[in-house]
Amino acid sequence: MIAASPLTRQPDARQGDEPPDASALQPLGWQAEFAAAVTDPAELAALLDLAPEWVAPAREAAQTFPLRVPRSFIARMRRGDPADPLLRQVLPVAEELAAAPGRSSDPLQESAARRAAGLLHKYHGRALLVATGACAMHCRYCFRREFPYDAQQGDTGRWQDAIATLAADPSIEELILSGGDPLSLGNARLQSLSRALAGIPHLRSLRLHTRNAVVLPSRVDAGLVEWLKDLPWRVTVVLHVNHAQELEGDAVEAIARLRGTGALLLNQSVLLRGVNDDAATLAALSTRLHALGVLPYYLHLTDAVNGTAHFDVDDARGRQIVDALARRLPGYLVPRLVREVPGASAKVVLASGIDKD
Ligand SMILES: *Cc1c(COP(=O)(O)O)cnc(C)c1O
Ligand code: SF4
Repeated sequence: MIAASPLTRQPDARQGDEPPDASALQPLGWQAEFAAAVTDPAELAALLDLAPEWVAPAREAAQTFPLRVPRSFIARMRRGDPADPLLRQVLPVAEELAAAPGRSSDPLQESAARRAAGLLHKYHGRALLVATGACAMHCRYCFRREFPYDAQQGDTGRWQDAIATLAADPSIEELILSGGDPLSLGNARLQSLSRALAGIPHLRSLRLHTRNAVVLPSRVDAGLVEWLKDLPWRVTVVLHVNHAQELEGDAVEAIARLRGTGALLLNQSVLLRGVNDDAATLAALSTRLHALGVLPYYLHLTDAVNGTAHFDVDDARGRQIVDALARRLPGYLVPRLVREVPGASAKVVLASGIDKD
């Protein structure tokens, strides 16, 4: 058997298997970088000069949710530092395997909000399409790490049911492309999706929730920029960045290219213990985002999903951090601290400025 080269290795099936969607024999651009992500804990440890003792637990934790990190993201990490805030987001650790009461694989009860294959409709006026289960990077805190993508995705006819459901419900004016990461789809796939959506007269707004644009900046290629510019709706791109250190290197140009499309750029973060759970770190993130033309939107508290308890920050600490942010930043750079509550008609806001007492 011939060992897969980094450029032909398939993304693992656990989070879907989107790229490469061009012929594997052609140069693939971002798709080659997607496929060349580091998936072996020993390689990650070697690239970052980490002690070998990190490898065995990482291998074990990666069995339930594989390691996957693009090389561009690794290039933004500090070498020899197991506490690096970017590394902590991707390195599988033994704590993931610890039993934690009160956690589940579907804490948000998203299955109940399913309106069609891949279509979640929880909130008035907007619906979310799980466009793919694939992500360029696997974030250890992911609330969808145990999401049943195969059942949700509806691969036959792909989005037919979802599009028919949207077309039949004039109350839905905004469609959110999410996942996984919608930018794991190739430009041709995105084009066929937007062409199908263009026939829905009540759709006014298209939103993308993406982490790929920052962790795999080559994804923001000329074809994607053209596609975004040509869309017939108001377009919002909500990035997912947790730490200012992620906004270095080629991520900076990728965001500039997105800005050039005229899309509104927002950011959502997850409040993560040991990564960004202090006001100075989040203030630096907001300031950096602003410098790149992106406004902070949500700061999410973690959801009670299996294997992520070691990232939890409690509500009181979260409020304290947002209070401290509001004391040092203009209001538009203070993200709203939110949690998803099953059955609630919107995300529940815990803090968005200083406490009145
Ligand atoms: C978070 C979420 C949205 C978006 O909520 P906004 O407050 O509009 O950002 C929409 N649908 C689902 C299912 C969601 O989880
Ligand atoms: S990019 Fe988003 S959906 Fe994908 S693993 Fe990270 S948090 Fe989860």
